[in-house]
Amino acid sequence: MKNEFNPAAVIETLQNILPRERDVIALHEPYFNGSEYSYIKECLDSGWVSSSGRYVDRLEKQLEEYTGASYALAVVNGTAALHICLLLAGVSANDEVLIPALTFVATANAVSYCGAIPHFIDSEERTLGANPYKLDKYLHEIAELKSGACINRKTGRPIKALVPMHTFGHPVDMDPLVDLCRTFNLELIEDAAESLGSYYKEQHTGCIGKAAILSFNGNKIVTTGGGGAILTNDRSLFGLAQHLAAQAKLPHAWSFHHDMVGYNYRMPNINAALGCAQLEQLPDFIKKKRSLALRYQEALAGIDGIKVFQEADFARSNYWLNVLILDEEHACHRDRLLESTNKNGIMTRPAWTLMNKLPMFQSCPHMDLSGAESLERRIINLPSSVFL
Ligand SMILES: *Cc1c(COP(=O)(O)O)cnc(C)c1O
Repeated sequence: MKNEFNPAAVIETLQNILPRERDVIALHEPYFNGSEYSYIKECLDSGWVSSSGRYVDRLEKQLEEYTGASYALAVVNGTAALHICLLLAGVSANDEVLIPALTFVATANAVSYCGAIPHFIDSEERTLGANPYKLDKYLHEIAELKSGACINRKTGRPIKALVPMHTFGHPVDMDPLVDLCRTFNLELIEDAAESLGSYYKEQHTGCIGKAAILSFNGNKIVTTGGGGAILTNDRSLFGLAQHLAAQAKLPHAWSFHHDMVGYNYRMPNINAALGCAQLEQLPDFIKKKRSLALRYQEALAGIDGIKVFQEADFARSNYWLNVLILDEEHACHRDRLLESTNKNGIMTRPAWTLMNKLPMFQSCPHMDLSGAESLERRIINLPSSVFL
């Protein structure tokens, strides 16, 4: 027998599982319990604080080993990493790029940095990410291949790439998306900003597409203060990414020569030092996050009309941010729940406003977004710090 839904019961249950000694329980706080101080001190002592140094190399090696990607490039943040990945995919002005409407704004912004146009796609309840079957049907309706290029028949513009995003750490169903990209000749770039430590079938997220990005922002599962990385298995793409992120400077002992418009996107050594120390703790962080997720799932299972998101059977998730999902009939209580949890020191957040509703993206093309709209109405993110 389940208890009937009421907001007070949800709040009481949350209070019971979360620690009482804190006044405010943040949504996601960083956790420094390893070699952070000593690695950063070493940077300061040696003077190697800027955009080269041994911690940058070491972080890249650690990322390659952990994820299984052939190459990792550390950069200033995840948004910059996305910008470079889109350039690697050949995205240029007037191209369209398929991205979920339910994502963090960085995904859409990076498309705009290339002069390209985001084209918003729907998400599914099973993964909180791109709905591959609905997208397949949609592309068969609106797209055609013209001498190998996928063209949007409605706008006349090329559709260059697809950027699925592993929402709150939960892997998207990649296999049908890989097929779809093959059928429509689209480049596949993964926004794995939130999914370091998450696996789709046996593969680490971010190792399936042509290239992928990770974020080490302060709220992500591991942090470098600010930072990100590009993953790829393609040696020549990796070389191009390195070149673009370092002002496109040609190697030379003393002369400054640059052969294209580049960017100052390299990660400083001092940030990489923090990252090395954090990555050493990642397996432990994931264990703790998975156990917190289980605690939420069990505690809230007794209340009717809500569920705590659980990974799909093909996924092993890092559970970066826990997600409470209200049934459609209780969606009207979302704001009241947000209001009273936050007032009681339990930081909760709604999902992002859908990209197609933001003023700068309102006129961008989109498919039917009923899945994403429903999720937006019903999602509440729960506190998910490692130490909880
Ligand atoms: C955090 C995040 C990014 C951007 O990363 P930054 O390091 O903050 O620039 C991109 N996409 C998604 C989905 C994110 O959550």
